[in-house]
Amino acid sequence: MERTLVLLKPDCVQRRLVGRVLARFEEKGFNLMAMKLLRVTPELARRHYAEHVQKGWYPHLEAFITASPLVAAIVEGPEAIRVVREMVGATNGLKAAPGTIRGDLGSSHQMNLVHASDGPEAAAREIAIFFKPDEIHAYEPTLECWFHAADER
Ligand code: ADP
Ligand code: MG
Repeated sequence: MERTLVLLKPDCVQRRLVGRVLARFEEKGFNLMAMKLLRVTPELARRHYAEHVQKGWYPHLEAFITASPLVAAIVEGPEAIRVVREMVGATNGLKAAPGTIRGDLGSSHQMNLVHASDGPEAAAREIAIFFKPDEIHAYEPTLECWFHAADER
């Protein structure tokens, strides 16, 4: 089992697509382990996007991600980090494959609806930025036996 950080970015909230995007992860069989709506501050944006802070386009990204609230969530499941990234699709909505979230719902390079951690180290780092341990809720997913065979769990 893996956990990954998903952000439903301000464009996703403003466009009323939160339910539809979350539904894709739920339908796929992932477990929601934590979720909250928050307004990202410039400081939080710089921590989350540390790898991009020096880029010429970073001020535009910071303005976008702090402009309006977003939804942060922890999604859990087998190979969740890779599978969620693949479900999200390529960064630019105009290049993302049909069938992916960005490919189906997005047409912007910057306003691409969803963030998903790109590897195990990023997932651990980003989850710790957005959630305290007592905001993460482990529970028994009672449909697990109908999503995965016994030897796949
Ligand atoms: P991804 O979210 O697919 O991992 P990146 O890590 O490359 O993409 O970039 C982080 C976020 O910064 C993107 O999701 C997008 O919102 C924004 N972004 C990326 N490239 C640009 C760009 N050239 N101009 C403006 N915003 C960008
Ligand atoms: Mg990235």
